[in-house]
Amino acid sequence: MIDSFRLNGRRALITGSVRGIGLALARGLAQAGAQVVINGRDDKRAQGACALLRDEGLEAEYSVFDVTDHQAVASAVDALENHLGPIDILINNAGLQHRQPLEDVSAEDWHRLMGTNLDGVFNVSRAVARHMIARRRGKIINIGSVQSELARRSIAPYAASKGAVRMLTRGMCADWAGHGLQINALAPGYFQTELNQALVDDPAFSEWLVQRTPAGRWGRVEELCGAAVFLASSASDFVNGQTLFVDGGLTSVV
Ligand code: NDP
Repeated sequence: MIDSFRLNGRRALITGSVRGIGLALARGLAQAGAQVVINGRDDKRAQGACALLRDEGLEAEYSVFDVTDHQAVASAVDALENHLGPIDILINNAGLQHRQPLEDVSAEDWHRLMGTNLDGVFNVSRAVARHMIARRRGKIINIGSVQSELARRSIAPYAASKGAVRMLTRGMCADWAGHGLQINALAPGYFQTELNQALVDDPAFSEWLVQRTPAGRWGRVEELCGAAVFLASSASDFVNGQTLFVDGGLTSVV
């Protein structure tokens, strides 16, 4: 039974994995036996994250591309498939936040956020899924958020993008489950990363969060790995189209 959680012989591409949650997920999958492919927009940062994992004795490669660039994504995915080998697991993790009252959000900021958080998921998934469909197997994990379910003041575009990621996950399930793919979303609660620096630096927010979260604390990024390994492994072969919240109970309790 335990063997069904192992990822030996599998290759996983994790977008936006030079730091934060993406890097933690890459480490977790590599510790479970996968070869991981680090991704980010900057060559040096991607190389650095890859070297970090290799120094820990883990199997890592890297590929530099911007998830918003449809053509660059398609070329990078084809290059990986041709030169490294099949991508068995894709984690769509690259994402950004924009905090501002909705009435002040510029069209440019709206499109920048959607381009990464939503178009990026479509771009990379379509490119990778075409190869997976031909092989009749593959695992796609889309990173959602508490905001896939709940809105919050001053982050309406982010909530819209993460709600859409949840529905795109179901749409991918509708179109691709019959081709042997499993597509699920992993929705983290609040974790201390660069994306959340403004919240981390605000003691009033931390106080509110500890009160609001049944577990009574922030999450630690490594606590996302168990759920990610499950969704990436054959242990979840009949789990499809679901969103798994890893949030200390936040979305279950008012
Ligand atoms: P970080 O800001 O710490 O990291 C974001 C990563 O994405 C970096 O590796 C960055 O690398 C990369 N990235 C950003 N834009 C692009 C792009 N266009 N193409 C490729 N890579 C890109 O964020 P987190 O680790 O906090 O968040 C990761 C994911 O988890 C996001 O989808 C976020 O919405 C989600 N999430 C985070 C939560 C949290 O509490 N932190 C809670 C719920 C969800 P580079 O800049 O070098 O390209």
